[in-house]
Amino acid sequence: MAKNRHIPYGYKIANGKTVVEGQEAETIRKIYSQYAEGLSYKKIAELLTESGIRYMPDKPEWNKNMVARILKNQNYLGTAKYPAILEKGLQKAAKQMAKPYTHTESPDIKMLKPLLFCGVCGEQIKRRLKISGEERWYCPSDVKHISVTLTDEAILEETEILQGYLAENESTIRIRKNTDNQIDIGIIRMQNEIDHALSRTEVNTAELQKTIMELASRKYAFIQDANEGEELKEKIAQLSNSPLDCELIRETITQIQLEHINFTAVILNNGQKIPLQDAEKGEIHLE
Ligand SMILES: [Zn+2]
Repeated sequence: MAKNRHIPYGYKIANGKTVVEGQEAETIRKIYSQYAEGLSYKKIAELLTESGIRYMPDKPEWNKNMVARILKNQNYLGTAKYPAILEKGLQKAAKQMAKPYTHTESPDIKMLKPLLFCGVCGEQIKRRLKISGEERWYCPSDVKHISVTLTDEAILEETEILQGYLAENESTIRIRKNTDNQIDIGIIRMQNEIDHALSRTEVNTAELQKTIMELASRKYAFIQDANEGEELKEKIAQLSNSPLDCELIRETITQIQLEHINFTAVILNNGQKIPLQDAEKGEIHLE
């Protein structure tokens, strides 16, 4: 039977009723006990992927978000709608392992926060803690284009995916800041002017000197520009799928734009904007 992931993991609909899906319930109990034993979201996700168990039929890979979602699901102890999958003891053991919401920002979040901007109005996104202790990320404009409860963990995971994406698409990164050839043309024109002036019998030395100096500085800027572009390309090539390298991200990206919970674009240090489309949470596609 095709699974519908609008139903929480561990359940299926049978005869119009929500019932326990045996295999998935088994996986849920495994996740809770591994977490209670001290394994990280990431480690659990890796083990699940290796075991061949799937979150969805078309998704062989598990990620931290999927594991976190299951560990945060409140239905597994049983509710009016959802039959119980977990014993209270196991749920409690896992809960005790859960890190409390980080009231202090981790060093990674501290580094990433200045890069996050609202994709609609361009304001820098802010992070607040709700009374419940959850992190809320929001756009500070009156309209509040963004106002979502997102764990720091989710932001970091998304950034890790973005990092891998940029590394893979390193070839699309422009070397030069200017898209047109204006500098090129300017240099050629000035060079011509100098050649022309030198070929004359009467040379206006002061004027010529000025042009030569100007040409030199433009040539220098041109080389600098290219060097910076090459450096950016090299740094981006160093980024890989994991682990998350916030320092390198800060050196290569000036803005990550968000709409709702999706990363919609990045602006690189050379001013180049790379549009992203978050077709499905956790997956970034080039527009
Ligand atoms: Zn906004």
